Amino acid sequence: MTATSAALSQCPVGIHSKVWVGGWTAEEAEKAIAGTKRADFDLIELDLSRPEDVDAAMTRRLLEKYELKCSGSVGLPKGADISSSDASVREHGRQVLSAALQAVHQCGGNYFGGVNYCAMEKYTQPCSAEQWRYCKSSLKALAREAADHNITWGLEVVNRYVSNILNTAQQAMEMIADVDEPNIVVHLDTLHMNIEEVSIERACRLCGSKLGYIHAGESHWGYLGVGTVDWPSLFRGLAAVDYTGPVTFESFSAAVVSETHSQALCIWRDLWTDPEDVAIKAQQFLHANLQLPFPPG
Ligand code: MN
Repeated sequence: MTATSAALSQCPVGIHSKVWVGGWTAEEAEKAIAGTKRADFDLIELDLSRPEDVDAAMTRRLLEKYELKCSGSVGLPKGADISSSDASVREHGRQVLSAALQAVHQCGGNYFGGVNYCAMEKYTQPCSAEQWRYCKSSLKALAREAADHNITWGLEVVNRYVSNILNTAQQAMEMIADVDEPNIVVHLDTLHMNIEEVSIERACRLCGSKLGYIHAGESHWGYLGVGTVDWPSLFRGLAAVDYTGPVTFESFSAAVVSETHSQALCIWRDLWTDPEDVAIKAQQFLHANLQLPFPPG
């Protein structure tokens, strides 16, 4: 039996836009947003890695039409690494992130997460003191910019093949203490925790009230509950810290995502082909786990 708390039943349940579509034309946006509503999710996470590709006014209209909330995230490309020692690269990153923040705000969201603190790529060196410092000072300015839009900035902890800075919840807490801005939170992802953490529950407990966003991804990024992620450990951890933030399903299949995204995240296999089916089953899995010992009434 999964230990849980009444707080968990308040968590908005979300889904990443790339479960549905590879791009964000008006047609793709409506397909993703309508599908999210049909599968009874509360929110959709918009990929803002290329903010210029996202028509915020069109997106906001669709979110209002389907009565859905949104969050935003990025995976910064190499040329936009805000932890780089190259000032022009950091500046490009700042511009991308600034545009992404604008898009979140214009779409009506108040959370911005993902790999928004370095490039989403395999680094060949450990994080140096210099890289940490550049990352910290970039984040400080951007967190303040986010605060101006009433946006919470989440640092997504990812595995060693995706970043050399934040691979554990402990490192994210250290960065948060160093940046020292009140609107920065930890964004944990089960797929990455499954690789790097001693225990998913312990990682959640370590973050405590600074835990702000969860990506629910299975160990292979496919259907939830059929991999090696220790799900009871996640829900025990969330219950222990009275978590009430979003829990967002993240899953990628080569059947849907764009070639660029496939390459960035090494999505080589079709783990599923029907977004509707994987989405509905994820929603049911998350709802069941978040509300387990507290049936209505
Ligand atoms: Mn994630």
